[in-house]
Amino acid sequence: MTRSVSILGVTGSIGQSTIQVIEELRAQGRDIPVEAVTAASRLDALAEACRRLKPKFAAIADASLLSEAKAALAGLNVEVGAGASALEEAGARPAEWVMSAIVGAAGLAPTMAAVRRGAHVALANKECLVCAGPLFIEAAQAHEATLLPVDSEHNAIFQVLTHPERVERLTLTASGGPFRTWTREQMAAATPAQACAHPMWNMGRKISVDSATLMNKGLELIEASYLFGFPSKSIDVIVHPQSTIHSLVHYVDGSVLAQLGTPDMRIPISYALTWPDRAAVSTARLDLAKLSQLTFEAPDPTRFPALRLARSALDRGAAATTALSAANEIAVEAFLDGRIRFLDISNTVEEALSHLEGAEAGLLAKMPSSFDEVKAVDQAARRAARLIAGNPAAA
Ligand code: NDP
Ligand code: MG
Repeated sequence: MTRSVSILGVTGSIGQSTIQVIEELRAQGRDIPVEAVTAASRLDALAEACRRLKPKFAAIADASLLSEAKAALAGLNVEVGAGASALEEAGARPAEWVMSAIVGAAGLAPTMAAVRRGAHVALANKECLVCAGPLFIEAAQAHEATLLPVDSEHNAIFQVLTHPERVERLTLTASGGPFRTWTREQMAAATPAQACAHPMWNMGRKISVDSATLMNKGLELIEASYLFGFPSKSIDVIVHPQSTIHSLVHYVDGSVLAQLGTPDMRIPISYALTWPDRAAVSTARLDLAKLSQLTFEAPDPTRFPALRLARSALDRGAAATTALSAANEIAVEAFLDGRIRFLDISNTVEEALSHLEGAEAGLLAKMPSSFDEVKAVDQAARRAARLIAGNPAAA
């Protein structure tokens, strides 16, 4: 197999796991040339990724860092770019396979550059879909891009979706996050460090906080709906603390197919990279006897209101899911910066959506018909969330 690749967000948690998979497959004799890589601002980590992957092009999001980036990457035989256009160039360059692993709506434009040239797009970044779902899916179809879900739940569904037209329901599993057994009072005083200490997965800070509020599962509900074309009422969420069953597909004959594995993102990443084949990857093997039991419980709607907010946004329509995701990005940032408390994350999102419904009702009622319209909704939701989270100066 020869497959040229690009990695958007190479310095993050998914980016690093992707490097490990590529190195392991290269060691098996597979030819995986790297076209482009990107980072936001961490030049040391970007230089390290370039040493390991030997890409042709490296882009940094922060345009003010161009000369520093050139200095940091000197001698590595890599062309360097900076700013939004360089990120888009990274997606547009001719790699057959593109890992979309930038966090947040910032990943949308570079990922769309890959979609528009009909690439195989491995989608870790769920905010792209939540932000611009219907338009994103339409564009992928129009340009014959292949979307390969990397989020472990969606990758699980993708692996067992043998008869899409015979599906009755989907069940997304959730670990329950670090506060699964905490009281609301304990959660009220939770610190960023506690919220980022996920019991099962080692991930970036934003998705870790999303897992602690269960907004991550809410975003995944929306992601699953847009990706696989099922309405919200056909998608259930169940808390499964062992994170062994990654999701389930229920068929019309009563059969339920699930994908199981140890919680290691290298499994979905390697599946997406080698699809429709599979490759030997040295992830820990599942030992069912050692695990001894798999448990399940319903998510608690009182302690975790984010799931309800996400479901109602999905029922409301594409503009509401754009606004939900944008407001959540601002609220999570405010929590990580110590400006709001943990329970205020969901409150901020809820209030931002109510504010938009009141002040700019037309904005949420209309399905965005272009990426510019999506951006307008995204920006309005960010402004509302900043006002509510007490950072109006940045609004
Ligand atoms: P990280 O925070 O670890 O990494 C984010 C990456 O995006 C880094 O390369 C970072 O660069 C870059 N980045 C951050 N902000 C910007 C920006 N404004 N413009 C351009 N690049 C930016 O995140 P994760 O790897 O954990 O997650 C990435 C995506 O994958 C998220 O959407 C997440 O929801 C999804 N995902 C992650 C999983 C996981 O296990 N980690 C599982 C399932 C989905 P720099 O390092 O320079 O800051
Ligand atoms: Mg997931």
